[in-house]
Parts: sequence; structure tokens; C-alpha cells
Amino acid sequence: MLPLPRFQLSRPTSLADALIAVADGAVVIAGGTDLLPSMKHRLFEPARVVSLAGIASLRTIVPQERGLVLGSGCTLRDVARDQTVLRLFPALAAACRTVATPTIQAMGTIGGQVALDTRCVYYNQPAGWRQSVGGCLKKDGAVCHVAPKGTGCYAAHAADTVPALWLYDAVIQLASTAGDREVPLRDLYGDDGRTWLGVRPDELITSIALPAPASSVVHRKVRTRAAIDYAALLVAVSRSDQGLRAVVSAVGPRPIEVAAATPEALAEAAHEAVRPLGTHLHPVPWRRALVRIEVLRAVNGLISP
Ligand SMILES: Cc1cc2nc3c(=O)[nH]c(=O)nc-3n(C[C@H](O)[C@H](O)[C@H](O)COP(=O)(O)OP(=O)(O)OC[C@H]3O[C@@H](n4cnc5c(N)ncnc54)[C@H](O)[C@@H]3O)c2cc1C
Ligand code: SF4
Repeated sequence: MLPLPRFQLSRPTSLADALIAVADGAVVIAGGTDLLPSMKHRLFEPARVVSLAGIASLRTIVPQERGLVLGSGCTLRDVARDQTVLRLFPALAAACRTVATPTIQAMGTIGGQVALDTRCVYYNQPAGWRQSVGGCLKKDGAVCHVAPKGTGCYAAHAADTVPALWLYDAVIQLASTAGDREVPLRDLYGDDGRTWLGVRPDELITSIALPAPASSVVHRKVRTRAAIDYAALLVAVSRSDQGLRAVVSAVGPRPIEVAAATPEALAEAAHEAVRPLGTHLHPVPWRRALVRIEVLRAVNGLISP
């Protein structure tokens, strides 16, 4: 078993105290289902960690006049079981249910989904493994093993719920001691796997606002073992008066959105836009071919808004 590095843990019961802790350099832990394994792998060795688990105001699901506001500390299980989510945002509930395992869904939070680190087979490894290949651009090294001639990091954002949240037009509410701000989820992510997330270290995600759904959405996930694995491909599609949209993820640091008038044009647009890198389990031609197939399967699952 890999030991955790030493760190100081604070467990505030108020948001104000948590904001002071992050302004002071503490790293946020919510469910800990990704942060703790990453700390065991020595990807992060924070001196101070602040837990959000004791802040009740972050764990509420509040229906609005037509949409709802999800506290960032709501577990994926709570989101998946909430009656308003099931009625208005069924693809979000479905996406929560595809994350890892039921026990991890009971601990992992929706805020941790939005802020999930990008992943790569050369990065999500114990420190000794990474040292044996000399580290990589994202952590302790000078070269990217996936694209050795490149200067960027292509680690993938593979949070199951993000494509559905994107198509439901989610808005992320952030707080810090310097003030609050809102960012549409679709503007939160960048193109490099090292700097993919537009949340400052002194900020917390407090909630995720979902306006009244303007379209129906379908979520699909492809993974090697349905019992636990991260996605080889994530697809969400929506249909509204404006036409069809698809968001494809788990193929790079930033989810990719395309739009078209017909299912075939949407599948083709997604296939053209996506440039997945190969893994030992998932060769590039297979991953690219799957994009077209999964977009069409998702469109077939749509019902009228
Ligand atoms: C075996 C295994 C399989 C998994 N499979 C999947 C999978 O299939 N799909 C998937 O999407 N995920 C998967 N995960 C990852 C993880 O369980 C989920 O993504 C979960 O939703 C993360 O939430 P958390 O609360 O546990 O985050 P944490 O681990 O607590 O935090 C994750 C990151 O988010 C930051 N963070 C958390 N909350 C906030 C906040 N409110 N404001 C700012 N930053 C914040 C933390 O600082 C950290 O950087 C898996 C994990 C394991 C261990
Ligand atoms: S894609 Fe990123 S994480 Fe993966 S080897 Fe390259 S630099 Fe490292």
C-alpha cells in the first residue's frame, strides 16, 4: 500500500473559513477519491489540505423557478437520486451513475468532477514508476512520452458528467476572499493538460447552476471494464430548436463541441474535430471510428424536448 505524504488538515464548518484556508495556500479536498490517490502517487504533496466535508451549505440541491443549483459538495449518488435532477436533467443523473463504482459515487462530489485533474497513462502512476521514465512535461520531466516532438501536454479530461453539464448550459459559481464570480462551464477548460482548469488556486467552486433545460440530452460512455474504468470516450448530444449539438470528451484536455443539422453531419463533424491519441488498449483508428458511431448512437437515444 502506498502511504500518504504528511500534511496538515483543516475541517472548517463555514465557507468563509475555507476561503481563508485556500487564500493561505491550502489545497481543497472534497470526496478525496481522486486527490488522495494522486497524493499517494506524489503527484501532489500539499503542506496544507482543507476539507469541504463539514460545510453543509455546499451539499444542498436547490430547485429554482425552472432549473436548479447543485452545491459543489453534493455526492454523485445524491445528484443521481435527486428527483428534480431525474426529472429535468436525466442525462446528468445517468452520467453520475457511470463514474467508477457505487462506493466511489457515494464519496466523490460534483465539484470534484468539474475540477478533476487531466489523466494520462504516463502521469497517473506511482512516483517510482514515473521516475523510471524520467517524468514527463506535466510532472518532473522535460518530454511528453505521448507526443515526444510536441511542446504541449495532451492528458485527457475524463470527468463523466462534464459533457452533459456542458450541454445543459451549466454555470460554475466560484468564490474567494477577493469576491465571487461565475463562469459558463464551457469556458472553464483550456487546451493544455497542465493548465486545463480556469479555477485559481485561491478559489473554490461553490455551486453549479443549471438553467431550465432548453434541450434533451443523452450521455454515453465507452470504457474497457464497465465495473470501474475511466472513459475511453465520452459523448453527450442534445437536440433543441437550434439543431443538434455534441460534446466529445476523454480525448484531450478540453471537451470538444460540434453542431450540425442532421445526425450524420453531426457524427461527421465530431469525427473530423477529434484527434485522440492512442493508448496500448485503444489504438487511434479505433478511437476515431468510435466517435462517429457513439455520436449516432447517442442521437438515436434522444427524445423530443
Ligand atoms: C478507481 C477510481 C475510478 C474512477 N473512475 C472515474 C470515472 O470513471 N469517471 C470520473 O469522472 N471519475 C472517476 N474517478 C475520479 C473521481 O472519483 C471522480 O471524478 C469524483 O467525482 C471526484 O470528486 P471528489 O469529490 O472525490 O474530488 P477530490 O478527489 O476531493 O478532488 C479532485 C480535484 O478537485 C479539486 N476540487 C474538489 N472540489 C473542489 C471545489 N469545490 N472547488 C475547487 N476545487 C475542488 C481538488 O482540489 C482536486 O484537485 C475515479 C476514481 C477512482 C479512485
Ligand atoms: S500527455 Fe501530458 S501527462 Fe501524458 S506524457 Fe505527455 S506531458 Fe505527460
